[in-house]
Amino acid sequence: MSAHIAIIGSGQLARMMALDGIPMGLQFSFMAETTEDTVCVASLGTVVVRSEDMKAEDLYKALGSPDVITVEKEHVDIDLLKSLQAFCPVHPNPNALEKFKNRRVEKAFLQSLNIPIAPYKSVRTESDLTAALAELNKPVFLKTEEEGYDGYNQYKITDENQAQVLAEINYPGDWVAEAGIPFEREVSFIAARSESGDIVYYTPSENYHRNGTLLTSLAPAPGLSEAMINTGKQYLKDMLTQLDYVGVMCVECFVWGDKLLVNEIAPRVHNSGHWTTKGALTSQFENHVRAVAGLAFGSTQAHGISGMLNLLGVTLTAEQASDSHTFLTLYGKNVRPRRKLGHITVNADTHEEAKSRVNALREMAYGK
Ligand code: ATP
Ligand code: MG
Repeated sequence: MSAHIAIIGSGQLARMMALDGIPMGLQFSFMAETTEDTVCVASLGTVVVRSEDMKAEDLYKALGSPDVITVEKEHVDIDLLKSLQAFCPVHPNPNALEKFKNRRVEKAFLQSLNIPIAPYKSVRTESDLTAALAELNKPVFLKTEEEGYDGYNQYKITDENQAQVLAEINYPGDWVAEAGIPFEREVSFIAARSESGDIVYYTPSENYHRNGTLLTSLAPAPGLSEAMINTGKQYLKDMLTQLDYVGVMCVECFVWGDKLLVNEIAPRVHNSGHWTTKGALTSQFENHVRAVAGLAFGSTQAHGISGMLNLLGVTLTAEQASDSHTFLTLYGKNVRPRRKLGHITVNADTHEEAKSRVNALREMAYGK
């Protein structure tokens, strides 16, 4: 068993992993880039801010010689992780993480496993983009290959804004242009795999995004067919096995008729799984920690129906957002527009009840 886990990253996901692992007697440390805020993990363990000239060995020692290293995000220095493997296991392994850092590479990987995705074109030049816009279903989503999250570094191109967007873009660049999928809804699937190859699955959630950012989730996703649930689980199983992956993975999908298209993969714990902290016997954070520490999984069984509301640039107090079925989690960050400051989970007996609780909280946080 691994007693000390170092996490690359210092945001709310690192915080929630540590908050679930500390009561189990595990110890944590964190690595932040100089540009990263570390307030989320303050007081949860040593925080090392990596300087440019820091070698892997120095970093490993500064982190307190951990037994295992994991990550809370996909935008990581893969070479650094590979160098750190000389000192202790890194879970998920850097070769696996490398598949999800760049959208073009990720799409090629999904296609290699015959996992369906939206039609797309790689875009470098203006003529690439013009050709993609002529060919792909609008709105076209133009996304940077790397460093995109929460809808940042992304354009939604329609006939109306096309001329304006084309004028704004600098070439050459590294983008992918995706056909707009007129999906009925978005769902996500989360699973965890252990070193010995055991896989546990959470019930999928239905997710609602606003301006490219997750706003609410509902779990289990209402009325998702057994066949579609099995398809989503199979996508996860194929990827986890192929990559010899250890830890939690999330697959975000579009449901479009009887098709389940993959939008993207998060090789880590994911916002759409925050409901698991109060709505499942074992949270995604605890099961990730258990996987990387070599411990047996806890049950992923959901109890009742869960809802989740993200607090994006707005916040509520515990007085406003806690009652018998309502649970507030704040990350300790300063308020900035659109920033993820916390989330609220609700538990209910029915989907209607969960939705109405989430809607009431949403109005309280964001107004009508
Ligand atoms: P996050 O960090 O939340 O995952 P992101 O910046 O990686 O966001 P995407 O997940 O690619 O962005 O897209 C965000 C949202 O934009 C999607 O959840 C979906 O609602 C919408 N979207 C993205 N691509 C498409 C598409 N090809 N067709 C239809 N909608 C899309
Ligand atoms: Mg995304």
